[in-house]
Amino acid sequence: MRQFQFIYRNPDEFRNELVKISQWQKNRITAYTIFHVFSESLNQENLREICQIIEQETPEALYMGCSTNGNIIEGRACEKIVIICNVLEYPSTQAEMIQLPLTSETVYDTIERLKNMVAQREWVKSVEMLVTIRGMSMTEFCDGLTELPEKIEVFGGGAFSEDMQNEACVFSKGYDCSDSSVVFLLMGGKDFHITTTHITGWKPLGKKFHVNRSKGSVLYELDGKPAYDVYYRYLNIRNDEHFFSNTLEFPFFYEHHGINILRAPIASNSDGSLQMTANIDENVIARMAYGDPWTILQNIREGGHHIREFHPDAIRVYSCAARKTFWGINEISKETLPFQSIAPTSGFYTSGEFLRTNGYVNQHNVTLVIAAMREGNPVISNNQFEMDEEHFSGKVSMINRLATFIEAATEELEEANRKLEFMAISDGLTQLYNRREIERRIKEELEECAQHPDQAICLIMIDIDNFKQVNDVYGHKEGDNVIIGLSTMLRNGIQEHNPDASAGRWGGEEFMLLLPYSLEYAQKAAEDIRKDFSEMTFEQAGHRTISVGVTAFIPGEDSDAFCIRVDKALYEAKRTGKNKVVIL
Ligand code: GH3
Ligand code: MG
Ligand code: MG
Repeated sequence: MRQFQFIYRNPDEFRNELVKISQWQKNRITAYTIFHVFSESLNQENLREICQIIEQETPEALYMGCSTNGNIIEGRACEKIVIICNVLEYPSTQAEMIQLPLTSETVYDTIERLKNMVAQREWVKSVEMLVTIRGMSMTEFCDGLTELPEKIEVFGGGAFSEDMQNEACVFSKGYDCSDSSVVFLLMGGKDFHITTTHITGWKPLGKKFHVNRSKGSVLYELDGKPAYDVYYRYLNIRNDEHFFSNTLEFPFFYEHHGINILRAPIASNSDGSLQMTANIDENVIARMAYGDPWTILQNIREGGHHIREFHPDAIRVYSCAARKTFWGINEISKETLPFQSIAPTSGFYTSGEFLRTNGYVNQHNVTLVIAAMREGNPVISNNQFEMDEEHFSGKVSMINRLATFIEAATEELEEANRKLEFMAISDGLTQLYNRREIERRIKEELEECAQHPDQAICLIMIDIDNFKQVNDVYGHKEGDNVIIGLSTMLRNGIQEHNPDASAGRWGGEEFMLLLPYSLEYAQKAAEDIRKDFSEMTFEQAGHRTISVGVTAFIPGEDSDAFCIRVDKALYEAKRTGKNKVVIL
């Protein structure tokens, strides 16, 4: 595979470039010629003219293109229009292109058509795509692509326009510019090889937020508060015309399909919800992230080595427009230029990047997606992955140190919080839940039970028999040992084997077990506990016994009535001779 790449300046110059390519091809057998046209300008007249020239000069070539937020050529950011021409040189290599509609209504059909196409073409190894996103949810689209055979690489970029909506367009051979379509380029064959990777370099910053409520790409609540509050409270970002550019550097970071995904807010709505760049899952833990130059370059270095090992003929880059905002136009090329030392590198700045990772196709934001392609066996070259050692100073360095400080402080606080949370709900001597927590759990379980009336719930209440005597005869310390002995048995015997069960210390030498299981099960458990405890030997106190009350929840009653009944059952066990289980 050969990759030619140049900036489009005017029709004449363009024709000359195409003639050069044709001349190069003349003495060679080539399979396909494929053009990518990436245009920062949305001038469709101009784009049509480019398409016409391609059709006139190289009628058999395939071409696809889209509007962009700027382009990448020879690893460097550039404005204007870039033309990338891939010439496939192996007769076994195959390529096919199709443009299909892409709206919420058509996404299903489009995916079905692609799947059928791929099913009929054994040779397909990669699906590259240019997509209009228009603020629509791409979840169904990505999930559909995930159903393509596992071996197929899927990657691509979202066409860009300033308004993120209607102006973005894609086009391809045989199809006009469209603001709601996807162009798929299928490539494959036995001598075609491809590898992909993605790079972010954004690092989580500060505390974790729970996504309480989100729908599609609208993020409503974090930690029970309107999502916008987070940006105001922690970053002092106001809801004004600069909201987008101010928040772009602090997207959210969460785990999806086993990898970290970034989502940036585009706008803040009047109800305090945030319009995100793409869908964000509900009930996930999200963290704010910031772009850390060292981490970015470190990740670029790692990604670069992976790509270099592959010895590609050509490299395609789909990089998020937000990365350009982050670095600024003077520094953005740092990220992509090193790849040019491996193979011709070009692409564009997107409004969303797509990549299949671990089988799943994900829509990314703020991410750099890289696809490296090759025909035939790797040609081992001496091409090094050239990257200058970077020394950041001044502001960048200071920001990095502050972020490190925040990270370390947050970790310490989180650890302290975990300890406090544990202390607040557990009993010091036994490490079982304390009375307040077990009472809260009983109430909570009853509330849940109201939604699932078939769910059985039982209580087991335990009291050590003649315990005062232990204290009186062997001392308080031995009394503690007996309490700890029983508690350890309850924790290991009940809680660990029954993750839904809770064991708590109700008072002195009284314990309460909450079991969301049947009465038969609870009765058996109670009997086992009574027997096992009676077989334990304490150093001084020898064998001791317990009395146990068991009861099942009666729908409609409150937690007090429920607890009073189990207490009565326990009292009955005491009254009728101790060391026994009574069910009431
Ligand atoms: P019964 O068989 O009727 O339950 O008799 P009992 O002696 O076990 O009952 P009682 O409730 O009269 O005695 C409980 C004793 O447990 C009283 C109290 O001093 C002691 N106790 C309460 N908490 C602790 C503790 O944390 N450690 C020790 N060692 N003793 C405790
Ligand atoms: Mg007792
Ligand atoms: Mg007691």
